[in-house]
Amino acid sequence: MTSASQVATQIPRDAHPVSRKNISDSALKVMSRLASQGFQAYLVGGAVRDLLLGGHPKDFDVATDATPEEVHALFRNSRIIGRRFRIVHVRFGREIIEVTTFRGPHDEAEDDDDKPAVRTNDSGMLLRDNVYGSLEEDAARRDFTVNALYYSSADFCVYDYLDGLGDLERREIRIIGDAEKRYREDPVRMLRAIRFAAKLDFQIAQSTAAPIPALAHMLEAIPAARLFDEMLKLFMAGYALRTFQLLREYKLLEHLFPATAGELEESPQAVALIEAAMRSTDERIAADKPVTPAFILAALLWPPVVELRKHLEDNGMDTPEALAEAGQSLLMEQLHHIAIPRRFTAPMREIWDFQLRLQKRRGRGGTKLLAHRRFRAAYDFLLLREQSGEDLDGLGKYWTELQEQHPEIQPDTRPEDEANPRPRKRRRRRKRPQ
Ligand code: ATP
Ligand code: MG
Repeated sequence: MTSASQVATQIPRDAHPVSRKNISDSALKVMSRLASQGFQAYLVGGAVRDLLLGGHPKDFDVATDATPEEVHALFRNSRIIGRRFRIVHVRFGREIIEVTTFRGPHDEAEDDDDKPAVRTNDSGMLLRDNVYGSLEEDAARRDFTVNALYYSSADFCVYDYLDGLGDLERREIRIIGDAEKRYREDPVRMLRAIRFAAKLDFQIAQSTAAPIPALAHMLEAIPAARLFDEMLKLFMAGYALRTFQLLREYKLLEHLFPATAGELEESPQAVALIEAAMRSTDERIAADKPVTPAFILAALLWPPVVELRKHLEDNGMDTPEALAEAGQSLLMEQLHHIAIPRRFTAPMREIWDFQLRLQKRRGRGGTKLLAHRRFRAAYDFLLLREQSGEDLDGLGKYWTELQEQHPEIQPDTRPEDEANPRPRKRRRRRKRPQ
């Protein structure tokens, strides 16, 4: 077990590779401003971890002894966000620096207040965690040792209270404190352990890994909206295949995608299809090509959709209706677990519906489909189905050749602007990419 009572190891500038050159100007600005007002300010979390590993951080988190209100008062371009865990977002153009106030131990919380700083439910889950503390106490409240390394832009040293550097060297994800207690406080930490193990290609330390399968069911208590955010981080970061395999291994998948997890036990073809979708997403990310969660979600839910469709067909429903009904019903069930926004469920369904349209050889009529906005995704999906062993009587080849015969027909690729919840209201013509 890792405890915070150790003294910090202080690593001087000439003994570590973290350089200001590789830290965003915005993060440096935030830290120097805080320091100029007499506050402590450190870079922490993924940025320090990734810089020590020689990687490129995707964002920069700052930890400070200033309260959220004090931080907010210092930066006009800032907002206090979160209730469960209050932090400050400081915005510089498109970049957001997340500033968190040092957290402290819960036993020092004043809890006779109307709004207690810490609240837990009966299973030990933290509903709120806003007790502030010192730098050393903050380290102990973080999730994994490799995420609890601090870099000071005042003295250029790295501070390590929990042997995070040792774990970086051993390439191990190790939770801080008692694993079971920390997972009960926040079950999402189980998903984070998997995510970092997949991303960094690290092992999960034995005592950190052991309690996961038995506590996996606690994910059911996490709000569906938070799980959607986590799902994006799990599958859209370039390591989806390994992540998916670990989620299965640790019995977490059945609490995220229960109908899918059930099918996977029965059908190696279903496993092959989903793994192929994950692999292709990872390859696209590595090649800097655009990816959408709709495609991965379409693949994840396809096996149970097909199963239910067959069942409905056996009961006399015709195929298109059975597919639509199966899709709708699986999706409704899935939304209880993960709140997939409409802008992704709509294209998912189109990919599914399109499978039937692609299943007919259409002669000249087929060329019309080539221009459809969803054609590319649906065609890629069809190829994955064939790759995973489904016998589609050469359909993939048929559509490949049809496209080769008609290079002049290009699918409508205008960006859909997935971040825009009401795309129809903004019918501005945009320049096409490429
Ligand atoms: P990424 O590369 O994905 O940004 P990260 O380690 O920076 O990885 P964030 O989600 O950005 O992860 O969180 C920043 C830091 O906040 C983490 O490194 C960790 O120290 C702390 N943290 C985040 N989530 C939790 C949590 N659920 N419990 C404890 N500490 C957490
Ligand atoms: Mg981060």
